[in-house]
Amino acid sequence: MANTESNITDSSSAASLKDLIVVLGGGESGVGSAVLAQAKGFDVFLSDSGVLQQKYKDELAAHQIPFEESGHSEEKILQAKEIIKSPGIPNYAPLIARAVEKGIPVLSEIEFAGRYTRAKMICITGSNGKTTTTSLIYYIFKNAGLNVGLGGNIGRSFARQVAEENYDYYILELSSFQLENMYDFRANVAILLNITPDHMDRYDHDMQQYVDAKMRITRNQTEEDAFIFWADDPVVVDELKKYPLKSQLYAFSDHQREGASAYVSDNQLTIITSKSTFTMEQDLLALTGTHNLYNSLASGIAAKLADIKDESLRQSLSDFQGVEHRLEKVAKVNEIEFVNDSKATNVNSCWYALQSMKTKVVLILGGKDKGNDYTEIEALVKSKARALVYLGADNSKLHAFFDGMVSQIADTSSMEEAVNQAYKLAEPGDTVLLSPCCASFDLFKSYEDRGDQFKACVRKL
Ligand code: ADP
Repeated sequence: MANTESNITDSSSAASLKDLIVVLGGGESGVGSAVLAQAKGFDVFLSDSGVLQQKYKDELAAHQIPFEESGHSEEKILQAKEIIKSPGIPNYAPLIARAVEKGIPVLSEIEFAGRYTRAKMICITGSNGKTTTTSLIYYIFKNAGLNVGLGGNIGRSFARQVAEENYDYYILELSSFQLENMYDFRANVAILLNITPDHMDRYDHDMQQYVDAKMRITRNQTEEDAFIFWADDPVVVDELKKYPLKSQLYAFSDHQREGASAYVSDNQLTIITSKSTFTMEQDLLALTGTHNLYNSLASGIAAKLADIKDESLRQSLSDFQGVEHRLEKVAKVNEIEFVNDSKATNVNSCWYALQSMKTKVVLILGGKDKGNDYTEIEALVKSKARALVYLGADNSKLHAFFDGMVSQIADTSSMEEAVNQAYKLAEPGDTVLLSPCCASFDLFKSYEDRGDQFKACVRKL
C-alpha cells in the first residue's frame, strides 16, 4: 500500500527560488501550508481577505513569511506558480476564477502536502461521521503503538506536520471542499461513510456536484489500495457503477448481506479482510447508536488492513470516549437528560440523533439554514418530539415546516432562552437534545461555541 515513487516529490527536487507559492486563507491549514512551502524552498506569500489570528501572525513573522490581511493583492497573487486555497474559499470566488483562467493550478493543502510524505494515507470523507471516525481510527492506531499523525479538517494542519514530523501513517479527515482541489493525491485507504445532501448552498443546489466531489477520494487508487464504503448507501452504490475502481472494495453494513466485509449478525460484529477475520460482541462497543456502529465498522476494517492485533482493536473499540459536541451527554437535571449534538449541522445527522433516542425528546433546532429539506426528520419528530424549541436569528422556515406537527413550540434567539424554554417544556424522563440541523453562524462563532454555550446554560439550571 506504499505510495509509489511517482507520487512523491522530496526535498531534493525543491523548487528554484523563482517559484512563488501563494497561500489563500491564513487559518490553521493555510499557515501550515505556508510553513511547509517555505521549508521546501519556495518563495511564499499568504493572503487573507479577513483578519488573521495573532498566533498565526506571530508564526508567519517568526518564519519571515510575507503576508497580507483584510484584502487580496491580486496582481501579486496571479504571479503564483501554484495557489494553495483554504477550503473555506469557494472555487467560484472571482479571484480563484481569474487564477484558473490564467492557468494557475489551485490546490488544497492536502494535495500540496501529500507530495512531501511517504506515509500511508488513511482518508475519511462522508456527509456525516467524518470527525468521529477519523478520531476513532487515530485512537486505534495510536493505541496499537503505530507512529501516526492526525490531520485534515481536524487538529494541527497536515502540511505543518509534514514539515515538522515524520509519521508512518496519517489519518486524514477530508471535506468535499478539500477533495475538490485534489488531483494527484492518492489515498492508500479511502473511506466514504455516506452521502446525503449538505452544503447545497456551495454546490448551486446541485447534488451531483457534491457527490462528484466526494467520489474524488477514490482518485488514483491502485490495486494495492482499499476503498471502504457503506453497502447500503443508495447514492454511493449508484455512483460506483460509474467508476471502474482498481482498489480492493470493503463494504460495511449493519446486517449480514452479500458483498459486505464488515457487518453485525446475532449481536456480533464481524470484519473479514483477505488476511483475517475479526469478531467482537456488539454490546462491547463504546460508541452507541446505529450511526456509530457504521463508524466502528469502517474503523475496524481500516485497522485490520493495517494488521492491528485483534486484542488491541477490541480494546480500543470498547474504550474510545467519543468526541465533544457529538451526542455528548452533558448532565441530568431533575430526571431530564441534556445531550449536546451541536455538530449536527445538517438534517441527516439530526435524523440519526433522534433515531438513537430512547425517550421523549425536546428538540432544540435551527440556525443558519443551508438549503435544508426537513421532510427527512418529519416522521421521527412526530413520533419522538414532545416539544420543539427553535433557536435562530430567523426561525420562519422552521415555523412554516413544523408548526402544527408538534403541540408545543417555543421561539428563541439565544442559547439561554432556548435551554430555559426546553427545561420548562420537558418532563421527567425526557431528553433535551440540541441537534440543530443547521450551521451556527447566525448566532454563534462556531458549532463548538454553540455547544459550549449549551453546556454552560445547562449547568446553570
Ligand atoms: P462530520 O465530521 O462528518 O461532520 P461528526 O463525526 O462530527 O461528523 O458527527 C456529526 C454528527 O453526525 C453527529 O452528531 C451524529 O449525530 C451524526 N453522525 C455521526 N456519524 C454518522 C454516520 N455514520 N451517519 C450518519 N450520521 C452520523
